[in-house]
Amino acid sequence: MFDSHCHLTDKRFEEDRLETFERALSCGLTGAVTIASNLKDALSAAELAGASEHLWCTAGIHPHEVSQATPLALEKISALASSNPGVVAIGETGLDFYYENSLKELQEKWFREHLKLSRDLDLPTVVHSRNAEDDTIRIIGEFQNSVDFVLHCFTGKVDFLNAGIDLGGYVSFSGLITFSNVEMDEVIRCVPEDRILVETDSPYLAPVPYRGKRNEPAYVQKIIEELARIRNQEWEDMVEITTANAKRFYGIEM
Ligand SMILES: [Zn+2]
Ligand SMILES: [Zn+2]
Repeated sequence: MFDSHCHLTDKRFEEDRLETFERALSCGLTGAVTIASNLKDALSAAELAGASEHLWCTAGIHPHEVSQATPLALEKISALASSNPGVVAIGETGLDFYYENSLKELQEKWFREHLKLSRDLDLPTVVHSRNAEDDTIRIIGEFQNSVDFVLHCFTGKVDFLNAGIDLGGYVSFSGLITFSNVEMDEVIRCVPEDRILVETDSPYLAPVPYRGKRNEPAYVQKIIEELARIRNQEWEDMVEITTANAKRFYGIEM
């Protein structure tokens, strides 16, 4: 099992960061990518990734935090990403017009900056998109298939899915698909087998039966089980498919 998106640097793991990851490995996890939200976080993530041969990380500034972003921070992110082999992607970046913690124009500007960086460094981009489907597709489209990307924690409709797939993207599903008030079966069945990823987004969004608790990478199992059920595929096959896709997407060999 491969957790394509977690936040192991989060302060909710302060007491037991490595133990939590070890526990996931003993539950059958073979790898994970811990996702950065800003420069400081990216530096911590790179250090953490260096401590395990099963862990990789990203470098980037979350759309919630771009009001603090500076050209110097982006330069340092670029330097980290190009020099540290543990950094396998740029992000998470994107647009969040639900919370809109940062101005829309600013979010768009930094989203483009991250995509340029991905293109220049030949690294994929981890995209966060909430209430911003058309703008997300428009901006990625400006890069004319020159950047590999994943739409993480996908909750959109089939139109958004197809637009992302047409641009060469992957989609990643989180514990949200296990919630009884979330109806995603049709979308999940439409995703081409070679574009589907799974993620916990831990410590957020714990899947049923852990809903409301702190999430952790070991729980990716529940998300894979739900995908297998909805797509009517074997659990082992779903593990193999999502692991192979994550390795291909992030360019990881293990
Ligand atoms: Zn996100
Ligand atoms: Zn995230």
